[in-house]
Amino acid sequence: MDYDNIIKERIKKRVRCCVCNGSLVDSENVNIVELDLVASWRMPVVGILYMPSAPEKAVAVLCDRCLVLRLGGGELEIKCAVEWTGDLGLVKYHPVEDLVPLPAIIIKEYESLEGLGVQYPSRNRRVVAEILQKFFNAAK
Ligand SMILES: [Zn+2]
Repeated sequence: MDYDNIIKERIKKRVRCCVCNGSLVDSENVNIVELDLVASWRMPVVGILYMPSAPEKAVAVLCDRCLVLRLGGGELEIKCAVEWTGDLGLVKYHPVEDLVPLPAIIIKEYESLEGLGVQYPSRNRRVVAEILQKFFNAAK
């Protein structure tokens, strides 16, 4: 099993859909949606590598059923953003109404990056490497 699958399976077991609160166990994918809301936690977030002090984006996780609805143009109400610790031992949900919107200038900066594919999931690559190592050790 490769790193991606180890992490994906763990997320599917421990994280619930941020729209329907349903399980992800029977979803083929872990669908991550970026929100224009400030993440005040460490992960998972989306940041801008060359702007380490810029607020990071919170993300929501959607099950395949809700993603299909979204892709079909259906109305979806994302109810929360998700936070987890490196080993997914602790998963926390933050209601979207409790979160602060990203400043407009920062939203613009993120939008300018979208075509380039240069967003990174963490401001700190060392942290990512440590997390991967943990997953690797856990899978042994
Ligand atoms: Zn769902």
